[in-house]
Amino acid sequence: MKFVGAHVSTAGGVHKAPDNAAEIGAKGFALFTKNQRQWKAPPLAADEIKAFKDNCVRFGYLPEHILPHDSYLINLGQPDDVKHRAATDAFIDEMVRCQQLGLILLNFHPGSHLGEISEAECLERIAAAINRALTETDSVTAVIENTAGQGTNVGYNFEQVAAIIAGVKDKSRVGVCIDTCHTFAAGYDISTDDGFDWTFSQFERHIGFKYLRGMHINDAKSSLGSHVDRHENLGKGNLGENVFRRIMQDPRFDSIPLVLETIDPSLWPEEIAWLYGLQEAKPEPLKKASKKAAPADGELF
Ligand SMILES: [Zn+2]
Ligand SMILES: [Zn+2]
Repeated sequence: MKFVGAHVSTAGGVHKAPDNAAEIGAKGFALFTKNQRQWKAPPLAADEIKAFKDNCVRFGYLPEHILPHDSYLINLGQPDDVKHRAATDAFIDEMVRCQQLGLILLNFHPGSHLGEISEAECLERIAAAINRALTETDSVTAVIENTAGQGTNVGYNFEQVAAIIAGVKDKSRVGVCIDTCHTFAAGYDISTDDGFDWTFSQFERHIGFKYLRGMHINDAKSSLGSHVDRHENLGKGNLGENVFRRIMQDPRFDSIPLVLETIDPSLWPEEIAWLYGLQEAKPEPLKKASKKAAPADGELF
């Protein structure tokens, strides 16, 4: 079974997220548990935590279908020791918030070397940060998202993601989230059948589907191999529609959250319905809305 959803807003509090997801017909969702552009956030209040959990039960959302995303400010590959410690502290705080909400996954971008250290050293620092975070928390899995390789970001190929996992001591609490836009922008041509097959055979070879804990379902405004991270609504970018049909018809992507981070949230109900329709033999064509895109509460993801 597929669990398609979107990265929903938490304006008004994290307890709003399940309601917002249910409203668009989502079977899973992503959220920020704090303002994603600020270092500090007040701790989650007990009534807020209770309201979130109650709403998840009410709408039938299970922890394995909810994929929280950490703050963009956190760079676990940070070359500077003092800043690396501060970033790891902030990551641990994010994990604690997830734990308090009864959640079991935390999705994050691996990090950036900032041109100061090698990619290999950066990957080692990320693994070290994950190891410390897993030691200081009990139940949350660190879910590494593949990147487009924009700027000095690492994690743009499966070998690099595998290198991080290799450095993590507790393999039971590390996982991977594959973002379709990032994958394409990084140079994996998942838009063609052959490219899709090759890409996921490489994924199985270097990482393994047993680590796949979620997907981000985005079309790409950026081009193949451009290393530019620009999401687009489904059917409006360079990915085409076939990749989404392949994902929806492939049991290797069952039972994990498949999260839209497309740029116009008003299209999410239609995109979710369209994705489910792709499981049928002859799906309806995706309607192309002309409305100007409004960014979601975090446009980078
Ligand atoms: Zn992301
Ligand atoms: Zn993403």
